Amino acid sequence: MTARSWHTPFYRQYLKSPEWKLFRTEAFRIRGRRCEACGTGWRKRGWFTRKRWLTVHHVNYERLGSELMCDVRVLCNRDHANAHQADQSGRFRDLEAATDHVIKRGRAGKGLGE
Ligand SMILES: [Zn+2]
Ligand SMILES: [Zn+2]
Repeated sequence: MTARSWHTPFYRQYLKSPEWKLFRTEAFRIRGRRCEACGTGWRKRGWFTRKRWLTVHHVNYERLGSELMCDVRVLCNRDHANAHQADQSGRFRDLEAATDHVIKRGRAGKGLGE
């Protein structure tokens, strides 16, 4: 599985597994229930706002099924899409570099706590 093969059938299947759901809950607990880029969080208005919700995003897929906390970032759906877009632009070394760029840009822009 390469770093860019997201949305493969296997990956989609995995996202429905109890193992992933468990890890996802753990990721929110440890990394925080808010977007690491823009700060959108669950606490404001429940689990998500009408247009934003939180996702646990992989910065690499090397350990799919036995991820470490450093393999994922908590992002809102907008910044999640931005991270994959940045990755696909080819301007970054890998998905992790693209993601960290989006997070840095998000933090520098609006700051946390939107
Ligand atoms: Zn965000
Ligand atoms: Zn992702």
